[in-house]
Amino acid sequence: MDPKLKYPPDADLRRLLRFTPDSGAIWLGDRRMVLLHTAALSALRQDLIGSVGEQHARRLLTRMGYASGLRDAEFAKKTRPGRPLAEMFLVGPQLHMLEGAARVTPLRMEIDAEAGRFDGEFRWDDSWEAYAHRQKYGVVDEPACWTLLGYASGYTSAFMGRLILFKEVACAACGADHCHIHGRPIEDWPDGEAHRHYFEDDSLLQTLQSLSLQVEALTSTLEPATQGGTLIGASKAFRHAQQLLQRAAATNVTVLLTGETGVGKERFARALHELSERARAPFVAVNCAALPAELIEAELFGVEKGAYTGAHAARAGRFERAAGGTLFLDEVGELPLPAQAKLLRVLQEGEIERLGGESVRKVDARLVAATNVDLEAAVKGGRFRRDLMYRLNVYPIRIPSLRERATDIEPLAQHMLARFSALHHKRLSGFGDRALQALQRHDWPGNVRELENLVERGVILASQGGTVELEDLFPNWPDAVETGVDHRGQLAAVAPPRQRELCARIVDCGVPLEALEQQVLELAVERARGNLSGAARLLGMTRPQLAYRLKRRGAAAEHEEAP
Ligand SMILES: [Zn+2]
Repeated sequence: MDPKLKYPPDADLRRLLRFTPDSGAIWLGDRRMVLLHTAALSALRQDLIGSVGEQHARRLLTRMGYASGLRDAEFAKKTRPGRPLAEMFLVGPQLHMLEGAARVTPLRMEIDAEAGRFDGEFRWDDSWEAYAHRQKYGVVDEPACWTLLGYASGYTSAFMGRLILFKEVACAACGADHCHIHGRPIEDWPDGEAHRHYFEDDSLLQTLQSLSLQVEALTSTLEPATQGGTLIGASKAFRHAQQLLQRAAATNVTVLLTGETGVGKERFARALHELSERARAPFVAVNCAALPAELIEAELFGVEKGAYTGAHAARAGRFERAAGGTLFLDEVGELPLPAQAKLLRVLQEGEIERLGGESVRKVDARLVAATNVDLEAAVKGGRFRRDLMYRLNVYPIRIPSLRERATDIEPLAQHMLARFSALHHKRLSGFGDRALQALQRHDWPGNVRELENLVERGVILASQGGTVELEDLFPNWPDAVETGVDHRGQLAAVAPPRQRELCARIVDCGVPLEALEQQVLELAVERARGNLSGAARLLGMTRPQLAYRLKRRGAAAEHEEAP
């Protein structure tokens, strides 16, 4: 065997594999993995062959392997940057072994990345797939390691940036002692084109896909406004609120939107406006909490010239500006009592009177109010008029918190990602799996607004061309207890990622550990201004332990504790 085909140590790859039993996930880098019984996979394989036939099953399984090879190719450049090309390439066979596919031995390999040339032969011993196939079907004529072969093609194609077709020239399922595969660019195989369909969308899948598109189209004709306004969500809680909104849109009823802060009340109000017949007229929003109490009446109802010092010209209020359209009063619970009395009159009579004015004006604006305080409690506390509450509360819609619509988190986040990527000129390919899992587990006290802020920050922090990772969204996400596979192949606790990074930097710096320890101890003493108890707390040890270490270094005299 060519000496350059000898595997480099795979500690760098084993470090990628982390078990986080507390969170119920296994990770390979940022990719979520799962441990499956080969018996279960084998059963699925048999079911596929039995239900769609061997050719379709082969295609589906090849594509599954191909997909996982594609993903593992990401690690080649990430894990071994700057290493010789062959060593980088061997990440694939080494990961394939770590993942338990087979024992892979490279026999011959010619790679020329610039010319796009690849010619390689590998030996597989103990392929799980050959074993599974032989157990069920006995010795067969055709090679059967479809998933494995798909992996080799997917990995190598991603690595080379062109379709590399692997063929199994001998297979243990056919009675050989081991499997033997050979890979070259698909154009270099005389019968290459005949194999292309294994990697392309399966016709069976296309049929299913076109059927599901038809169903989708049918559903959308049944529910013409499911995408009402710009609202996104499919959860039950969200759809309930949306249906109420759609029914209200057809009428002129006053709507009261309630819900926690940040749930997107203004967006709902806008959607209601856009769904209504008033969509072409203005949508005017007023935040009652943002305007000073002495200005709010002038803002809402308008002013006649000379109504008060400084009122040099007559001015229409927001009610008049919303004529024919919708007026949205956010945080209506903050409205001062005098303004509440006037608002009640508008609702009862459909008329307003400008400040300092004599005449009344008819107004035609649909009122949508929103509050995140309990109006009932505000009434009991004497801060809100009961009669106004009844007037506003004709058609209440409670907007669910983000916690209550967890299934909407991902689609919302993806939508925001697309929007902010465009805004900040970033090309991003989505969220990392760990980032998505963290989004699902977060408690969202600030609801959709908080999600929006996080996604925007994540988009800004993510590197161009990459994905938004956990650290970009939650820099302080607590490190889970993680275990990895040590050099004996056994599970062992591993340090959290940040500590691992720090350790890697220390090793790279080449500072002797002894010198480093002394510097760390001295820094802690310095930070604690010479107070040994304080320094010990910083280092997570007791004062005697710290004193002992310092003394051992003959440095204790310099750092006697201040009285
Ligand atoms: Zn085989």
